[in-house]
Amino acid sequence: MIITKWQLRQGFINNNDAHNTAIHEFAHLIDKMDGTMDGVPEIILERKYVPQWKQMMETTIEQMKNYGSDIDMYGATNTVEFFAVITEYFFEQPDSLKVHHPGLYEMLKRIYKIAG
Ligand SMILES: [Zn+2]
Repeated sequence: MIITKWQLRQGFINNNDAHNTAIHEFAHLIDKMDGTMDGVPEIILERKYVPQWKQMMETTIEQMKNYGSDIDMYGATNTVEFFAVITEYFFEQPDSLKVHHPGLYEMLKRIYKIAG
């Protein structure tokens, strides 16, 4: 994983968009910690939510491919990139994510253990 200082700065300067390279790579690291990179961060997501999360990712990726989305289309590449892209969205524009994708928002709150 290589993040340039420039990318790191841009991510935190441009607070009005859903992109943040550091957060994106952070999500990949968390995903990788359980030994498989699959968009399911088993190390932090309770086992009982895993099937629901997988289903939710597949469904959303299908919707993105068929209808487009406010979610960065790069996330439709596969579940690995979906998890990283939706994590960026969650931390950069939580209010927007909550309005447009309440189910994803709730699940990401579970994943990242954010109360409220
Ligand atoms: Zn990525």
